[in-house]
Amino acid sequence: MSYQGKVLRVNLATGAHTIEPLHEKWARDYFGGKGLGIKYLYEELAPGVDPLSPENKLILMTGPFTGTVVPVSGKLGIITKSPATGTILDCSIGGHFAGELKFAGYDAVILEGKAPAPSFLYIEDGLVEVRDAADLWGQGAQDAELALRAKLSEEIKVLAIGPAGENLVTMSCITSELYRQAARGGVGAVMGSKNLKAVAVRGNGSVTVPDIHKFTALVKDFMRTDTLTDTNLWAFTDGTPMLVDLSQNTGILPTLNFQQGTFAAFENINSDSLKNVRAGKKGCLSCALGCGNYSKTGRASVEGPEYETLAIGGSNCGIEDLEAIIKFNDLCDNYGIDTISAGNVTAFAMELTEKGIKDFGLRFGDSEGYLHVPKLIAHKDGIGADLALGVKKLAQKYGGSEFAMHVKGLEFPGYEPRGSWGMGLAYATSDRGACHMRAWPVAEEAYGERDPFTIEGKAQLVMDLQHYNAVKFSLILCDFWALSLETMAQMLSAVLGREIREEDLSRAGERIVNLARQFNVREGFSKKEDNLPERIFKETLKTGATAGKLLPREEFERMLKEYYELRGWDENGSPSAQTLAKLGITG
Ligand code: SF4
Repeated sequence: MSYQGKVLRVNLATGAHTIEPLHEKWARDYFGGKGLGIKYLYEELAPGVDPLSPENKLILMTGPFTGTVVPVSGKLGIITKSPATGTILDCSIGGHFAGELKFAGYDAVILEGKAPAPSFLYIEDGLVEVRDAADLWGQGAQDAELALRAKLSEEIKVLAIGPAGENLVTMSCITSELYRQAARGGVGAVMGSKNLKAVAVRGNGSVTVPDIHKFTALVKDFMRTDTLTDTNLWAFTDGTPMLVDLSQNTGILPTLNFQQGTFAAFENINSDSLKNVRAGKKGCLSCALGCGNYSKTGRASVEGPEYETLAIGGSNCGIEDLEAIIKFNDLCDNYGIDTISAGNVTAFAMELTEKGIKDFGLRFGDSEGYLHVPKLIAHKDGIGADLALGVKKLAQKYGGSEFAMHVKGLEFPGYEPRGSWGMGLAYATSDRGACHMRAWPVAEEAYGERDPFTIEGKAQLVMDLQHYNAVKFSLILCDFWALSLETMAQMLSAVLGREIREEDLSRAGERIVNLARQFNVREGFSKKEDNLPERIFKETLKTGATAGKLLPREEFERMLKEYYELRGWDENGSPSAQTLAKLGITG
């Protein structure tokens, strides 16, 4: 069996640690990553805990495929309660940290309490120490990682935060291998609130599977017939920047704080333009797709930018200069900030300024002012003290809530829901606020064959995609392999040595989504928060394929009602007792 059977629990306040057996029943029901992390947090965290208090927990979770040669299985799940939204929060981060943790002998690490002074956690097999990080505090996330590697070993794998996390900015991220991020919901601030600058791990063990010959034959076969196929190779050749052209053509490219769905200068920021500055490629552990594209210009080098940064940090801020976007991405990475939230709050401040509501000195297209933003946010300095609040709280302070593009306090990713109505439902019902990783119906609507301007069938589509992604992020398979549940079930059977059927996974996906919902319900969330900004319901887009389109509120409400009914949730959005019982969820 591919689990190590051990959970490392560290009390940062005392430096003490314990090693516990992995909860077998929970691992059977929730696998790893997202699902198992949520289960641990649901059982261990009292409702109402302040996310930035020592009582919150930060869980680093591997999965049953981590450390094996299953394709695209190298990511780590990070689970906590979000300081940005107050909801459950799970993120995944690429690179090699997860494999190293598993090789050190652990399936998960649960971080508790708050260190009395800036610290980092060092794990090397059985050695677990909370060490002084005074010299690292204040450094950029990338700088701190480089310093730790230089001090300890180039072999260690590191998670680190930048100044934004230290300063409890609720859009701060966790970084690994310089350019990989667990970006959303303020995970970096949770680390900062624990005085934890970094986690460094070195593992010298291995992972076993029941029948190595059968397993490797299966993986080889899937690699040839399912992974390295035309369907997935876009990840290698172009990566996510290819979505700029697709979004432009379908009118869903966020532009000027979601005032438009097309950007006149889109060709400056698309995949072809990026290929002109591409400097190299990189991938995560066990990944043959290797989607990481390095870009290098005179002013900056970065892995990416990914589509979300090009859209939200580019067209959405009216920035036409690709070099400026790369620099913005680079600054956000080192200060430890999520580019999606930073881009959104910048665009929102630009619109507040241009509408005369509050002058932040920022204007659409002004790349010079825009490049000051990451540092100001990270240090809560000048206008950064306001921008660090995020879009929701900034609107509460100065107005403009009707065009504050967030759900539950998490800012919008790069897909305009007026041109993909199912995406509106996906944002509204996502467990961590506006998110494209919980369900991405855009692929079938705006980019695919289904009518994007109807609600017919969308509740079912979003629900099915949420279940599928919940399984994928619990097995911790990268989003970029479009594999079936059947394929997942076959690989899981091979690493666990017992039969897992497609329907078992499907049911587990439903269980995970409902447990996440139950966590949020326990925190006081209900239908009221399953909502979208007024702009989506009231303002029509003006250009391109979505000209004249909005998402009528009554259509959205019908879609949401149908979604609740399909899920077995009451009219307030709470899972019914029967639904929870059917899925084996208690409490
Ligand atoms: S496709 Fe990209 S993000 Fe996904 S596992 Fe491979 S390198 Fe990592």
